[in-house]
Amino acid sequence: MTAFSGTVTQAVYIVTIALVIVGIMRLRTPSTARSGNLLAALGMALTLGVTLVFIPLENWLVMTAMLVLGAMVGTFAARTVRMTAMPQMVALFNGMGGGAAALVALGESLHILLQGAVPPLTVSIPGVFTVLIGAVSFSGSMIAFSKLQELIGGRPITFGGQKLLHASLFVLLLLAAVLVVSGGPLGRLMPLIVLAAGAAALGALIVLPVGGADMPVVISLLNSLTGLAAAATGFVLGNDVLIVSGSLVGASGTILTQLMSRAMNRPISNVLFGAFSSQKDSAVDSAVGEVRATNVEEVATLLAYASRVVVVPGYGLAVARAQQQVRDLMVALEARGVDVRFGIHPVAGRMPGHMNVLLAEADVPYDRLYEMDAINPEFSRTDVVLVVGANDVTNPAARNNPGSPIYGMPILEVDRAKVVVVLKRSMAPGFAGIDNPLFLLDQTRMLFGDAKTSLTELLAALRDVG
Ligand code: NDP
Repeated sequence: MTAFSGTVTQAVYIVTIALVIVGIMRLRTPSTARSGNLLAALGMALTLGVTLVFIPLENWLVMTAMLVLGAMVGTFAARTVRMTAMPQMVALFNGMGGGAAALVALGESLHILLQGAVPPLTVSIPGVFTVLIGAVSFSGSMIAFSKLQELIGGRPITFGGQKLLHASLFVLLLLAAVLVVSGGPLGRLMPLIVLAAGAAALGALIVLPVGGADMPVVISLLNSLTGLAAAATGFVLGNDVLIVSGSLVGASGTILTQLMSRAMNRPISNVLFGAFSSQKDSAVDSAVGEVRATNVEEVATLLAYASRVVVVPGYGLAVARAQQQVRDLMVALEARGVDVRFGIHPVAGRMPGHMNVLLAEADVPYDRLYEMDAINPEFSRTDVVLVVGANDVTNPAARNNPGSPIYGMPILEVDRAKVVVVLKRSMAPGFAGIDNPLFLLDQTRMLFGDAKTSLTELLAALRDVG
């Protein structure tokens, strides 16, 4: 590389780093998230471009072909994926990132060792770290993807001696890591292979006992590992962009994992190792009361004469793809002078921000969206709460039943409203698999049916109310 191309490359790296940082900052609110994403993507495109132009590539034809193929597959997958399948897509892409980081470090290390040389500690230590973390992230993400895509059962998979196997494998990996860093050029080869294969086995073993429904939290954790692996690859290759962007992914993934665990009131250790504990789901509690089914005409009248309505969306809204209908209902009610707000629980749906993205897609203004802490004090002043395909995030057992597995999880306190109308298809439980005593309260009405159909009929019925 000439002095000129070196300077240009460094300058582009700095621009990319700035674009990625600004991009991540803009992801904080839905109104700026889209441009944030584009800015970060532009930064990565610039770095890829400068790499292709200035760094002498031996197989540029193969590289370009792979780049075009990868871009085509990625674009197609991103444009066609359904919102409900987003967690498994993130798992798949994340696994690819971890696997790529591990392969780069493995390739670089093998390249040096097979020449009979020994890499300095500043390269071999991050190299070992990348192979270890990248391979764990790759195989763990593939298992997470398979569970979410229902290629394998979503239930925790446990077997006798599993804990011992994990511990032994971990010790073996530590031993291999020490040998890779301290052995002679050829003596390092076998431990390096053992390290890569063993780490891949460990990643799969760690994720197998986690239930399918906890996968988004695990994916976020694996995501932060991939970030750390990419940052470590940056040290192996001496590449600043990888170091900075990998660290950013590692840090933001860690924060996201913590936020999700906190919102579900479950420490991450419980998500990862819960299947090993003997604690049983003491869940199906003794909720008493009567189910009161209602119809669209009754609900339309309730809504038409309400002053304040709060809509609580949940996973069922995403399944029914009813975001547009819920927005149309908001517009119709506002035209009648009703104050309509949306109460958003941090883990409503199946991934962080799920509801915000869906509602933004249907052009629901951001100022109508209220976070849990902002909307909870409002429920006692609310005439009608419309729970659309949400369940666990409204379950009062989290507040008043110490025997419930979700006891302590912060919830939307919809039961404090005058009337609660729940739109769902049956009395089936939600993700946590537990009964919801909300459905049996005196002020609750159940509007059974697919949320999209119910909302469409509700809109029509609303027009008939004088
Ligand atoms: P839930 O899974 O508790 O409930 C969703 C409800 O939607 C179900 O009870 C179902 O009832 C109903 N439903 C499904 N399809 C339809 C349809 N077509 N029309 C109408 N209703 C439908 O969802 P919540 O959003 O309330 O809670 C999210 C859960 O996911 C929490 O337990 C949370 O901890 C968990 N979680 C969330 C993560 C996140 O990051 N957001 C990550 C990991 C877990 P029925 O079948 O009767 O229709």
